[in-house]
Amino acid sequence: MSSVILVTGGSGLVGKAIEWVIENDKSERYGKKEGETWIFLTSKDGDLRQPEDAKAIFEKYKPTHVIHLAALVGGLFKNMKYKLDFLRDNLLINDNVLETSKVFGVQKVVSCLSTCIFPDKTSYPIDETMIHNGPPHESNFGYAHAKRMIDVQNKAYNEQYGCNFTSVIPTNVFGPHDNYDLEDSHVLPGLTHKCYLAKQNNTPFIVGGTGKPLRQFIYSRDLAKLFIWTLREYKETEPIILSVGEKDEVSIKDVADAIVSAVGFEGEYSFDTTRSDGQFKKTASNDKLLKYIPDFEFTPFNDAVQESVAWFLENYDTCRKGH
Ligand code: NAP
Ligand code: GDP
Repeated sequence: MSSVILVTGGSGLVGKAIEWVIENDKSERYGKKEGETWIFLTSKDGDLRQPEDAKAIFEKYKPTHVIHLAALVGGLFKNMKYKLDFLRDNLLINDNVLETSKVFGVQKVVSCLSTCIFPDKTSYPIDETMIHNGPPHESNFGYAHAKRMIDVQNKAYNEQYGCNFTSVIPTNVFGPHDNYDLEDSHVLPGLTHKCYLAKQNNTPFIVGGTGKPLRQFIYSRDLAKLFIWTLREYKETEPIILSVGEKDEVSIKDVADAIVSAVGFEGEYSFDTTRSDGQFKKTASNDKLLKYIPDFEFTPFNDAVQESVAWFLENYDTCRKGH
């Protein structure tokens, strides 16, 4: 049976990883199947904040399935600076993609939430039932509220129109094709770039905050496989957390150590404790995922950091480094 899978945000960290798995994985479960056409969109194909752009894209490709990744995305410091942009851009993008998918009769949409949208004051581990149980952390409330609405929209589209719209909740993602901006990026690519410059220029390597916050990191190519599994096999409207287990949570200092080793930086590094730590932790349970797919093999954190840093060094001249 033929299908057209449209990936919004196809040029980003997660979109590029899905493209990589679809092209390179030979397994029945994750590799490209006969009859499938995969379309990876960038913002050059249209600005999804604009309804007419969304409509033109759907008219052109007539997708049967959508993986919806496009979003205004950034690390802690960017989220703190642009709260209204994170709220409005993401509300508009999500509304356009979901409504256009409904109008064009798309058979299934998988959208992307994030563990940073969970309530700030909560019990741990966090699970899928707790998204709406209290305000998100102050640092990213714009992004968090826009993302939470996807879950509300999915439920409403399902109950009123029978649409098969669902969502996944990844923890912190990293890998090739990340955004390596020094200031507006996520911690792993941001520190990779800073550590590289410190090594090149013989300057101090400075990590923001205390290094004590805890995060669960998922390698983008592992996440990509789980996205493909969700599209093909997951049947619920309710979201599913896509994460390594609680025992694989690491501190920001562990992240800095892994980067220092992968970059081969031999100097000392220090913490700038005047900078925000953000949320201390957002430990999530992957029990639901493991019930569905108990034999899934996550790439060990240090191996994935080595691969990502190697990709950054090989692609230094062309990778995303800023505005
Ligand atoms: P990314 O690397 O910043 O990529 C964002 C993608 O969205 C790019 O393809 C970009 O296109 C596209 N885009 C942005 N604004 C657009 C617009 N107005 N119209 C059309 N396309 C637009 O982000 P990512 O890290 O891959 O994130 C993918 C998804 O995962 C997002 O929904 C994000 O919220 C979620 N997520 C990410 C993380 C993480 O740690 N990175 C964690 C949890 C969840 P251009 O390349 O053309 O600009
Ligand atoms: P978050 O998980 O949504 O908070 O996203 P980030 O990827 O931005 O991680 C933020 C954590 O990393 C906070 O504890 C920051 O203090 C810490 N951190 C240390 N250095 C950096 C840096 O250079 N960039 C970013 N984004 N965070 C950093």
